[in-house]
Amino acid sequence: MSTFQELGLNEDLLKAITDLGFEKPSEVQAKAIPLLLEEDKDLVALAQTGTGKTAAFGFPMLQKIDIDSRTTQGLILSPTRELCLQITNELKLYGKYCKGLNVVAIYGGSSISDQARAVKRGAQIIVATPGRMKDMISRRMVDISKIQYSVLDEADEMLNMGFKEDITDILSHTPEDKNTWLFSATMPKEVATIAKKFMYNPTEITVGNKNESTSNVTHEYYLVNARDRYQALKRLADANPDIFSVIFCRTKRDTQKVAENLIEDGYSAGALHGDLSQNQRDLVMKSFRNQQIQMLVATDVAARGIDVDDITHVINYQLPDEIETYTHRSGRTGRAGKTGVSMVIVSKSEVRKIKSIERIIKKDFDKKEIPSGSDIVEVQLMSLANKIHTTETNHEIDKHLESINELFADTDKDELIKKFFSVEFNRFFNYYQKSKDLGVVESRGSDRDGGRDYGKQSNDSRYFINVGSKDGFDWMKLKDFLKEQLELGRDDVFKVDVKDSFSFFNTEKALQEKVLAFFTDFKHEGRFVNVEVSEDKGRSRGGRSGGRGRGGNDRRSGGSRRRDDKPRGDRRSSSDRRPSGGDRRSRRSDDTRKDRGDRSFNDFKGDRRSESSGSVSDRPRRSRRRD
Ligand code: ADP
Ligand code: MG
Repeated sequence: MSTFQELGLNEDLLKAITDLGFEKPSEVQAKAIPLLLEEDKDLVALAQTGTGKTAAFGFPMLQKIDIDSRTTQGLILSPTRELCLQITNELKLYGKYCKGLNVVAIYGGSSISDQARAVKRGAQIIVATPGRMKDMISRRMVDISKIQYSVLDEADEMLNMGFKEDITDILSHTPEDKNTWLFSATMPKEVATIAKKFMYNPTEITVGNKNESTSNVTHEYYLVNARDRYQALKRLADANPDIFSVIFCRTKRDTQKVAENLIEDGYSAGALHGDLSQNQRDLVMKSFRNQQIQMLVATDVAARGIDVDDITHVINYQLPDEIETYTHRSGRTGRAGKTGVSMVIVSKSEVRKIKSIERIIKKDFDKKEIPSGSDIVEVQLMSLANKIHTTETNHEIDKHLESINELFADTDKDELIKKFFSVEFNRFFNYYQKSKDLGVVESRGSDRDGGRDYGKQSNDSRYFINVGSKDGFDWMKLKDFLKEQLELGRDDVFKVDVKDSFSFFNTEKALQEKVLAFFTDFKHEGRFVNVEVSEDKGRSRGGRSGGRGRGGNDRRSGGSRRRDDKPRGDRRSSSDRRPSGGDRRSRRSDDTRKDRGDRSFNDFKGDRRSESSGSVSDRPRRSRRRD
């Protein structure tokens, strides 16, 4: 099956699909939709998050219910309020041409009587969290005695969260002869039990290997002393200026604490866990969705199923107890055809867990070193340079040029560049200049690319190259690409670090001439590829990572330094601080925008500034606030 037409969907739904920009059905959709349309059947579908499950049950449900009737015919249970709202919004979009359709969300933390009223107005479909649903049933605010289709979405997670009894109770109020469609990322015993209990001879479909993590995700681990965990996290963020990440902690307490620390240190971070009020959670999710928050620190339960596409990194601040949970975590990134990185910060005692995860997910981890201070300075500097290079000139400046020129009449270009960079950079530089390395020597030798400490070898050359993950590279692809183009051997290219719009790699110094000569006039997919030796004065050659300019670097490092010698009253409330929203927006290229549904862009609409123009206007504001 290759098109939605072929799946048997009606015109109204197909029109909505066109509007949504869905080109072809995902695997779970291709398998589930025709099946559910053709027969009244029970279904168990196993598919990872991000595989398009909502549409897999949403379209058939919309087509099968009687929209002219005001009776509640479809019930979707989902574990969290966030997911509940997400599903409701999706269904409304899918059914936008179904006249008279009324989908109502029911969840805790919001007025129950409002929700009851919305249902009374004639909701054909209710999307609910189990707790609130049960509550409303017992208060006779909803009538689900005529339900024909019930969906258990993220069933494993609902059971993890202890909703088993609620679900049992809710389903006992629905007709025996309804159909139940169960969707789950994994199939633990409890889910099988539920399926057996409530379903009649269900058809099973599985998408991909149950335990296989997304293939677009590379896995890295960083060995540190347990006490350096937080410092390590900050460095990983600093070494990736364009980071847009979820950071997983094991407990609500750690989640809250890490988020608070990051915020105090000037990062745009937020916490998401069950102890927050619904309102607080909504606010955090909203900021994260529109990328004003770059680092969302979350518990596994709270982050489950969150549908945010462009997450660049998942950071496991601590490893989860269950390996399956690791799969869920890493599945938050590498979505919608993009590449992603799942990073794990481990202490020595946890290293063996990495081995077991590797076995289960059937993928190897790269052992990497926490970037050194000078690595980070290099990344930030190059990233700023790259950003300046690609910034469109603002001609409003023209009229002031004469006076500015006058001021700099005696300053040559090099000097001017240095001064300019110093403005943005001194604080950052000072912070990291004296910092020690955080790496820990692992007793067992694991020697993949990242494991070797090439940085300390003075006979390496480190290069900057202006292609990155935006161009479809991850470190393996770039390494292969370079090896092939340069006709080099297996180990000649190493320490490949791919960032959003550019990357770094190393070769032995002896190869430098060859590398540079090759890339003097080289085009990749129609554009010139620029390779430079990345000079790094004041230390041995070989930075670890790259990144692209984002504002707020100095702000962040300044913050971190203050934190180290105990923070002093700079607790701006999150509302008066405008973190890096402008920059986050400019991170995307216009074509990555196109391939996502419009609704994901509600928050960007009307603000489609050209790449990087946002940052420049944001910077002075930020710096001023800092001083
Ligand atoms: P899941 O429930 O499996 O985690 P979702 O249903 O939330 O996945 O879908 C993930 C994202 O993919 C959503 O943004 C959704 O709009 C989008 N999506 C779903 N189906 C398609 C498709 N056929 N083509 C393109 N995008 C899709
Ligand atoms: Mg879902």
